[in-house]
Amino acid sequence: MDDGKKVWAPHPTDGFIQGQIVDITSDSITVETFTGSAGNKTIEANYDRVYPSEDDDTKDVDDNCALMYLNEATLLNNVRLRYKRDQIYTYVANILIAVNPYREIKNIYCVDTIRHYKGKSIGVMPPHVFAIADKAYRDMRMLKESQSIIVSGEVGAGKTESTKYVLRYLTQNWGSHAGPIEERILQANPLLEAFGNAKTVRNNNSSRFGKFVEIHFSSQGVVDGGYISHYLLEKSRICVQNREERNYHVFYQMCAGAPAQMKQQLRLGSPDQFHYLRQGCLRDPVLDDAADFGVTEDAMRQLGFRDDERRNIYAIVAGVLHLGNVSFEDDEHNSRGGSVVSNVGSNALSLTSAIFGLENDELRDALTARVMQSKGGVKGTVIKVPLKVYEAMNARDALAKAIYAKLFDSIVRKINDCIPLKSSANYIGVLDIAGFEYFPINSFEQFCINYCNEKLQQFFNERILKDEQRLYEYEGLGLRQVNYSDNQDCIDLIEAKAVGIFDLLDEESKLPRPDPANFTASVHQKYPNHFRLSVPRKSRLKEHRELRTEDGFLVRHFAGAVCYQTAQFIEKNNDALHASLAMLLAEANNAFLRALFTEGSAKAASSAGGGGGDGGVRKGKLTFISIGNKFRTQLGSLMEKLRSTGTSFIRCIKPNQNMVGHKFEGAQILSQLQCSGMASVPASWVREGYRPAHQLLRSTACTNQYLQEARHLHPRMFCKVVKALFKALSKKTFSPPKRRRTSDSDSRRCSSDLESLRN
Ligand code: ADP
Ligand code: MG
Repeated sequence: MDDGKKVWAPHPTDGFIQGQIVDITSDSITVETFTGSAGNKTIEANYDRVYPSEDDDTKDVDDNCALMYLNEATLLNNVRLRYKRDQIYTYVANILIAVNPYREIKNIYCVDTIRHYKGKSIGVMPPHVFAIADKAYRDMRMLKESQSIIVSGEVGAGKTESTKYVLRYLTQNWGSHAGPIEERILQANPLLEAFGNAKTVRNNNSSRFGKFVEIHFSSQGVVDGGYISHYLLEKSRICVQNREERNYHVFYQMCAGAPAQMKQQLRLGSPDQFHYLRQGCLRDPVLDDAADFGVTEDAMRQLGFRDDERRNIYAIVAGVLHLGNVSFEDDEHNSRGGSVVSNVGSNALSLTSAIFGLENDELRDALTARVMQSKGGVKGTVIKVPLKVYEAMNARDALAKAIYAKLFDSIVRKINDCIPLKSSANYIGVLDIAGFEYFPINSFEQFCINYCNEKLQQFFNERILKDEQRLYEYEGLGLRQVNYSDNQDCIDLIEAKAVGIFDLLDEESKLPRPDPANFTASVHQKYPNHFRLSVPRKSRLKEHRELRTEDGFLVRHFAGAVCYQTAQFIEKNNDALHASLAMLLAEANNAFLRALFTEGSAKAASSAGGGGGDGGVRKGKLTFISIGNKFRTQLGSLMEKLRSTGTSFIRCIKPNQNMVGHKFEGAQILSQLQCSGMASVPASWVREGYRPAHQLLRSTACTNQYLQEARHLHPRMFCKVVKALFKALSKKTFSPPKRRRTSDSDSRRCSSDLESLRN
């Protein structure tokens, strides 16, 4: 790079800003920016953070690989130019970047658009989720191989919406009417959203669980059925929400929209009557809870949930709300302390008992005392230990969380029963799961989701770079092994048998008195000098107390370092209810409730592997069922599935924190592009100084310019590149053309470019 050259320099809010080199020293570059009215400014930056700019930086391209200069700055600029024109989709080779428009863009998802994408190769039409869905479908049929589409991005980036468009595309038979089974698969979505989505500060319809939706096809390519797997429903929300957030939609939907008779029967009033709803905000201006009740109800009907099944489900939801209203106060008549249900709470207690089919006294006892095996005395004697007020509240919340989570499991099971497979030949699976998370305080939930993203990133690297490697080999361009930043060490740190963080946590959890500080100490002891792990770093935020070594640990993930606070790891990792509560539920008169805890739990306990293993019910002891272990197992089988399929990637980007249209916050978008690995996708091309001819031919516009640039390659390498290009052009290896743009005139222009180079 020389003086006067147009470049991109790093910028704290825009990501990159354009300017011109005015000075180059031995370790930095000074750039004078073109800021127009604000006057020019100079920026001094490291060599490796200043990137060459396209000559015409106002022209965007469908596929980022068609740019002359492939770097983070030109990628960001390309995405920005397109976003300004409401072109929210951009390719990087076969990966789709989708920027959330936060507004409706006319006609981009209509039936006509679906028809236009039918059967078209990627690149023939402008970038679109439909093109990715179509590729998956064509690949499935052509290769007779199942496919998966991995949708990723941070909260509010548009993952769930993109997933819905993909599912719609695949089930609507490209614009003709969806058949009955297709209709059912589509209806699963509003139902799952009612029970698993909530308003949060960052998305008013935020999914609080991950899902992998498989659409199965017969050998004729017709939709045959579906199967949904779900991951990590956020349970804490059922009992506690932030002030500006809400509980799961279904609670408000029932309060607002249930028929009068149901409301009367289940004693439902306005949401502010319920402790589990009152803490958060009650309403969202965008959401119409009453109308949405109808949507949920319709979804269940269309899926084939019977009247009694729907009634049972609603009753459980109402029961959870009433349970939350059971309040406690100190027991003044008991010299050993303990608690009783308060006057206000007793009405709620009897409503809950009635709905759940429990004896009032038994429910009260189970909430205010714990059965324990007596230490001394006759072996096997069971004693009751009274619980303090806060312990009773914890028991109540644990019960509510367990019931709701089991209800969610059973709804997913029921949906799967409603979309059964008959003659599935292959499937297309769409993964919609939370991206890498990093908050001021990070707990077990973030730990699990970041672990998951670590695994997905590894898979992404494997797939994308392996594909690239194959292309180089195919073209005879001897390239050194494409290497990429390997994160296996981080994955091992978390999941390794016996020594990984998950197993260390389970070890501590199995002790009679597990202690978070012991667990944290064991992690630090095991890994005193591990590159990926260290003691917590000083918090940059003043309002948060500094973490001490025993409070947590820091993990250096591929996307950045995250400090985890371990105080609640042990309780959050345990899926077992106290024996008193578990025994109570096993005897409930409400058969549906009873079944939630018997049907599902046998499976859950066995898949929990090294966890409790006894299904959670053992007298006198708080048994342990490891959530971490269950998730690790689930994720393991998901990865196995993904590895056995052909894969496409959709990287969703959140353009701004205000959730509004037409606002492009460059720096934050850049960091999302970096986290998702997009910034480094064609890294090897840049490093090696050439691109595979196949990629080049998707963008003949820059062939000439590119070859000019390629002149600095070693002559032998240059010859190889040119040869590969000729070979590809003569269509010996270049078939089928991925893009119509490689039309005759393009090829001619390309040949003449080569001709001129040869001379
Ligand atoms: P995520 O699942 O990544 O958390 P969502 O898919 O729920 O995010 O999207 C958040 C919100 O952004 C949606 O409720 C919707 O308002 C808006 N949105 C997302 N994708 C689109 C799109 N393609 N067109 C219009 N609005 C969108
Ligand atoms: Mg979502």
